[in-house]
Amino acid sequence: MNDCLFCKIIAGEIPSSKLYEDNLCYAFNDIAPQAPTHFLVIPKTHIASISEIDDSNSAVAGHVLSVIAQLAKELGMESYRVVSNIGEQAGQSVRHLHFHVLSGRDMTWPPG
Ligand code: AMP
Repeated sequence: MNDCLFCKIIAGEIPSSKLYEDNLCYAFNDIAPQAPTHFLVIPKTHIASISEIDDSNSAVAGHVLSVIAQLAKELGMESYRVVSNIGEQAGQSVRHLHFHVLSGRDMTWPPG
């Protein structure tokens, strides 16, 4: 999508701190980390949020989750939080599906 920040990051038009890439997804460090480890994993195809996942793209979404598990193992993360904000009230600022992966500090529940 032309005006999507994360599509531009995938295309290399905007620099990012890449952790992992394959044909379906891209992982990079969050520019404003909220924990000692905070990265984002996104599908390469433009999906606005979890609310747009259906049978036509659920395999990609599942792959993104398996990559999160793989990266967490590789990085030695035993405890971590995965968050995906959907819509403005929940705090979504970029309308391209992304999973925040946060680790390295104590976390509270419920989230703010
Ligand atoms: P959300 O607010 O849930 O939509 O998450 C969007 C995330 O993207 C925020 O945590 C931002 O800090 C992060 N972000 C925005 N621009 C960039 C960028 N250029 N590189 C890496 N992370 C970014």
